Amino acid sequence: MAIEIVNPYDVAVAQFDEAADRLGLSQAMRAILRKPKRELTVNFPVRMDNGDVEMFTGYRVQHNINRGPAKGGIRFSPEVSLDEVRALAMWMTWKCAVVGIPFGGAKGGVLCDPHKMSRAELERMTRRYATEISILIGPDSDIPAPDMNTNPQVMGWIMDTYSMHSGYSVPAVVTGKPLAIGGSEGRLEATARGVLVVTRESTRDLGMHPQECTVVVQGFGNVGSITARLLHDELKCKIVALSDINGGVYNPNGIDVHRALRHSKEHGTLKGLSDTEHVTNAELLELPCNVLIPAALENQLTSQNAARVKAHLIIEAANGPTTTEADRILNDKGVTIVPDILANAGGVTVSYFEWVQDLQRFFWAENEINNRLESIMSRSYQAVYNKSQEQDCNMRMGAYLLAVARVAEATEIRGVYP
Ligand code: NAD
Repeated sequence: MAIEIVNPYDVAVAQFDEAADRLGLSQAMRAILRKPKRELTVNFPVRMDNGDVEMFTGYRVQHNINRGPAKGGIRFSPEVSLDEVRALAMWMTWKCAVVGIPFGGAKGGVLCDPHKMSRAELERMTRRYATEISILIGPDSDIPAPDMNTNPQVMGWIMDTYSMHSGYSVPAVVTGKPLAIGGSEGRLEATARGVLVVTRESTRDLGMHPQECTVVVQGFGNVGSITARLLHDELKCKIVALSDINGGVYNPNGIDVHRALRHSKEHGTLKGLSDTEHVTNAELLELPCNVLIPAALENQLTSQNAARVKAHLIIEAANGPTTTEADRILNDKGVTIVPDILANAGGVTVSYFEWVQDLQRFFWAENEINNRLESIMSRSYQAVYNKSQEQDCNMRMGAYLLAVARVAEATEIRGVYP
């Protein structure tokens, strides 16, 4: 078996190269779009609760800002690497372009294990990281948001730190904040709500009825847990398996998602949920189901397991869950994949609404936000679907063709400075 590319940045560049080939991009344009524009590595000390000082490493990468300010989440994880952040920044550029939002792509991360840190340690680390990257972030330049292991509270600390340095409140410096300090209605649910829209549209295109679909969701954090709830409550799907970092729970007759939410809140894990059997995260991905929704992390569907995936439809709620080789295997099997840069774009869409509301100091009602989100997601889904039909390619390539062409056009018009 050929050796598989699993460095997320290599996966991101390979996807871009294929789109660039199909679009016939010039060598110069390829060279510009292949590389991140800015990469900042910061090493900084944090005082821990026991009085010791520990050094942390963090990154902030801006891939391309020709269509607008840089935008992208911040993750806290022991797996964070510069290449992972580069890949995620590049995917953000394409994601904003696919849904037509005037932002460029960025991402940030800190190498740490937040589950082993106290709240006070996490706050000090967040505030120091925010200070270190403050030479890049700002409401007009680069606007962070939550990602793995970061949440509205972490965004609140970043907003406060930036505001303290400015001497006045700057809510528009981050999105995904709590409502009390300029957050937006609907932001917490936004990524999952976008996943719901593309699930509804793609099942319809495949002639499947959501209420007859069995669904497996990997990951039970912000995106996975809310996706499971919305698909269960609003599309009436049968959720047959769920998982978190400790493994999965499975019931072929369906799981009561509200009970799962309560169990997870109470015990900090899905493990031990009654009326379910335990499965590993590896087994979960191969369970019989109609729809598989990876909503945890990268490189979950690989050359090792893709051939055994039973789902007919994969909705990539996580970023980069499918490796290049797995993508090929799944395509050959006729599995439809709604790609990450489209499927999880609901988050950045409502982040854009939050930023606009903060800048205007004028806030919208939740139904207004959800209606605008619905229209952007369904329109973008349709554009990607049409592109893939027109170009006789899969939806990932359809999304890339649309996105890369938009970013290349902006880059061309702006020209090469000086
Ligand atoms: P989160 O930290 O809230 O949740 C992550 C979940 O994944 C947790 O339930 C965790 O237990 C689980 N997990 C971690 N490691 C795992 C493993 N090895 N196997 C199975 N499960 C594992 O993060 P999130 O914000 O829900 O993000 C999930 C994914 O969605 C990421 O890829 C992120 O980049 C992407 N995403 C998030 C947003 C957003 O708005 N939060 C927007 C777009 C994309």
